[in-house]
Amino acid sequence: EQARDELLDWHGSGMSVMEMSHRGKEYMSIQADAEADLRELMGIPANYKVLFLQGGASTQFAMIPMNLLRGKASADYLNTGVWSAKAIKEAKKFGGVNVVASSEDKSFTYAPAQEAWKLDPNAAYVHYTTNETIGGVELFWTPETGDVPLVADMSSNILSRPIDVSKFGLIYAGAQKNIGPAGLTIVIVRDDLLGQTLPGTPTMFDYKLQADNDSMYNTPPTYAIYIAGLVFKWLKAQGGVAAVEKTNIAKAQLLYDALDASGLFASHVARENRSRMNIPFTLKDSSLDGEFLKGAEARGMVQLKGHRSVGGMRASIYNAMPVEGVQKLVEYMKEFEK
Ligand SMILES: *Cc1c(COP(=O)(O)O)cnc(C)c1O
Repeated sequence: EQARDELLDWHGSGMSVMEMSHRGKEYMSIQADAEADLRELMGIPANYKVLFLQGGASTQFAMIPMNLLRGKASADYLNTGVWSAKAIKEAKKFGGVNVVASSEDKSFTYAPAQEAWKLDPNAAYVHYTTNETIGGVELFWTPETGDVPLVADMSSNILSRPIDVSKFGLIYAGAQKNIGPAGLTIVIVRDDLLGQTLPGTPTMFDYKLQADNDSMYNTPPTYAIYIAGLVFKWLKAQGGVAAVEKTNIAKAQLLYDALDASGLFASHVARENRSRMNIPFTLKDSSLDGEFLKGAEARGMVQLKGHRSVGGMRASIYNAMPVEGVQKLVEYMKEFEK
């Protein structure tokens, strides 16, 4: 609503954010505010850079090895599903990949405990996916990797709960799940990891160059950054990430309780890894899937169909989903089961 109200005239400037020069004082203040608010929300220490990039999380699958291999032969990767597998596939183009553990044995329905990981002390970094968006598998603990930098794809659970940024070498997230419009990618990187790119790394893919230019080596995705900034302000108004986490816990609990109590619906994810953001579930009789989706749509609940690779249903209940939305879904599930 705020974006609508200031669409054609941002703060009396006579300009839409879309028509501003990215080097003008108006836009510069928008980006600086967005960064300051994100730093405050996540408690990002001063020795970390915040980058506003493009290309989505998928581009980070390449940028991470290009920037962080730093002369080392290989990197460690945890394989917990679709997204970590894509990160692994891309990293193999640039160096060795050691898969420290995989949950493929149980169709990616859990995350292997750290005791089961085979970490390489000489790895350039350790990569994992904090929330597998398609499988609905979330890690609620932070791996201990000693001096080896920890790298996390937080695309689908960033800002859903407090995390200790100082435990990570690099955090990245496509904006479109929990932050704002597609087209913006957030990278938070510890500054000692910058400046040692692989030979041939394109200029735009060099974190140091992006950091030295305040993410303005070229034109940043200005409108997406502006909307992200509004979301950061909204999160602060909710009471910050700790307050948002309470709501997220309540929302997820409502839905998992309903699944556990049901004879028709079921979750297949290990209890300790049940995602608070993406909740896949199945109907015992999958021939009823279509009817369930139709009834949901008639009640204003859309896009509940699961990812084509896993089937069933998936409720994505990101920060923006109010408790009432989950209550409505749970009521409908009970009614449908009856
Ligand atoms: C959506 C998603 C991606 C891919 O993001 P793009 O921005 O579309 O490249 C990567 N990792 C995770 C965990 C995701 O949820």
